[in-house]
Amino acid sequence: MPRKPFIAGNWKMNKTICEGIALANELKGLVEGINDVDIAVCPTFVALSKIGDAIKGSNIMLGAQDTFWKESGAWTRQIAPGMLLDAGAKWVIIGHSETRGRFGTVDAELEGVLNYFGEKDITVNMKAKAAFAVGLNTIIACGELLSEREAGKTDEVIVAQMKTDLAGFSNEQAMKMVIAYEPVWAIGTGKVCDAEEADRVCGVIRKVIKEMYGAEIAEAVRIQYGGSVKPDNAAELLGKPNIDGALVGGAALKASDFVGIIKGAR
Ligand code: PEP
Repeated sequence: MPRKPFIAGNWKMNKTICEGIALANELKGLVEGINDVDIAVCPTFVALSKIGDAIKGSNIMLGAQDTFWKESGAWTRQIAPGMLLDAGAKWVIIGHSETRGRFGTVDAELEGVLNYFGEKDITVNMKAKAAFAVGLNTIIACGELLSEREAGKTDEVIVAQMKTDLAGFSNEQAMKMVIAYEPVWAIGTGKVCDAEEADRVCGVIRKVIKEMYGAEIAEAVRIQYGGSVKPDNAAELLGKPNIDGALVGGAALKASDFVGIIKGAR
C-alpha cells in the first residue's frame, strides 16, 4: 500500500497564542479538502490547546515539540505525554536536534555546553515509549552533524541513533512512529540536502527498521525529510521513493509557504 505523505510544521519557539491562532485559521482555509496528505502543526506547549481549538474539525492535526517520559510527579518544567494528549495533541516530535543539542554550527569550543536539554538516544527511546503508552503518535528525529558527514560517518551515526531510539517497541507501536531524517547542517540554514542523498539516507533508515521490525513494518513506516524544505524544493524531495513527507521549520510559519510544501507532496 502506498504511504500517505505527511507534512508536519514545527513552529519551534515562534508565534504567540494570538499569532498561532491566526496562522492556524489561515491554514485551515487553504488546506480544506486536501485528504491525500496528512498535515500537522506543532506549536509551543503553551499554545497547544488554543491551536487545538482553532483546528478542531479540520484536516490539520496537532503535535507537540517534545515530552518527558514520566507520567506525573515532581519533575519541574517537564510535560508528560498524557498532558499533551489532554491538550489535544495526536503527535509529538521526539529527539529533534535542537533538543539533542546537535545544532547546525557546533562550535568545538562550545560543544561541552551545547546540550542544554540533556537529550540522548536513550531518552529519545524512553520518551517514545511513554508517548506510545498514552496513545500518542511519534515523530522521531535523527540526523548527522556536518563534521560527521564530512568524516564520512553519516550512515554510522544514523544507524546508531536509530538502533537505540527505536529499540523495544511493540509492532503496534512501531507502526505509529514516523521518522524524520534531518541532517543537522540543513536545519534552518537554507542548505537543503541533495534529494538523491536524502532519499539514500532515508533508505538506510528503512533498512534499520526492517532489521528491527521486519519488512512489512519497514514498508509501512513513513520517513520524512527535514532541513530547509521550501515550496520550491518540496516536490523534488517528496517525489523520491523513500521520502514520505517533510518536517518543516521556518517555512511552516507562513501559511502560503507551508501549503506550497503540502501541494508539493500531492
Ligand atoms: C526543523 O527544525 O525540523 C527544520 C527542518 O527546520 P527548517 O525547515 O527551518 O530547516
